[in-house]
Amino acid sequence: MNIYGLTIEEMEEYFLSLGSKAFHAKQLFSWLYESRIEGYEEITNIKKELLDVISKDYSIDRLKIVSVEKDVDVCKYLFELFDGEHIEAVLMKHDYGNSICVSSQVGCNMGCKFCESGRRKKVRNLETYEMVLQILMIEKELGERISHVVVMGIGEPFDNYDNLVKFLKIINHPKGLAIGARHITVSTCGIIPKIREFSNLGLQFNLAISLHAPNNELRNQIMPINKVYPLNDLMKVLMEYYNNTNRRITFEYILLAGINDSEENALELSKLVKNLNCYVNLIPYNETNNLNFKRSSTIQIMKFYDILKKNGISVTIRKEFGGNISAACGQLRSKKEDV
Ligand code: SAH
Repeated sequence: MNIYGLTIEEMEEYFLSLGSKAFHAKQLFSWLYESRIEGYEEITNIKKELLDVISKDYSIDRLKIVSVEKDVDVCKYLFELFDGEHIEAVLMKHDYGNSICVSSQVGCNMGCKFCESGRRKKVRNLETYEMVLQILMIEKELGERISHVVVMGIGEPFDNYDNLVKFLKIINHPKGLAIGARHITVSTCGIIPKIREFSNLGLQFNLAISLHAPNNELRNQIMPINKVYPLNDLMKVLMEYYNNTNRRITFEYILLAGINDSEENALELSKLVKNLNCYVNLIPYNETNNLNFKRSSTIQIMKFYDILKKNGISVTIRKEFGGNISAACGQLRSKKEDV
């Protein structure tokens, strides 16, 4: 077990279970996340005997960064996990701060037809500490604070729900990484029961839904998850989510030439989302060598955008990052796993 996987509440329980005091949890949290210690021996306000016990129960080891690829506003980090698996995280420099796109699983089972990252099936969920360390280690490498987090790397976060929620609590905690909930976005392909659970958490995180099609027929073809959780049910749970949280939902919509980018599709999409307080983020598709989908032309993207606008939908076109270093959305597949 690794110390970076514990929420502050779990740490309190741990200290109590040792017959010690709960307040040590705050101290330890602040050593880990404010002072950024690299070994327990740096801690000065917890007794040595207690530290010896902690160090036997929880390792404080970090992941290995095995490579960094840099482009103008973006860096891709390849991490090696303790079992030899690899995952990637991407740092993006925006004018409003540094944001990281973190991975939540090794591989992914959702099988979206257009996604390069998901060509490798899920090997396992990431542990909480493996998500936390992606941020901690990139901050150290960079020497700058990360202000925004998007869980949009490899994996389906709601297929790793418990570890995800612990991760969110740790990075959001004022004594943890103190990243504001409104600066943290979780993106899902639409796992309805988990969206419902998420909406009951009572927290202010942003939710993004990978929609990519305005009707069941098309969505079934490109996103197999839609056969399990069809669009009408998805829209219902999102309405519930909005009523519970008052948080505006983001829809991600990749534009795939000749597949989902017609004017009719744009109209259908407008109708589908117009009763929900949401905005639509249009994503120019990142083509990959292994899949046959093509990016819509700029003219088509603009037409699609205009139709949504005219129909009163808030819509933006996603700024692109990382195309040159295979760090763009859906392209995260380490070259080490070239299958
Ligand atoms: N499983 C989660 C999060 C990971 S995917 C989800 O489905 O939301 C992050 C986003 O990148 C999703 O919207 C996904 O559909 C999109 N994506 C996948 N492949 C892409 C590609 N080649 N070009 C652009 N976006 C892509």
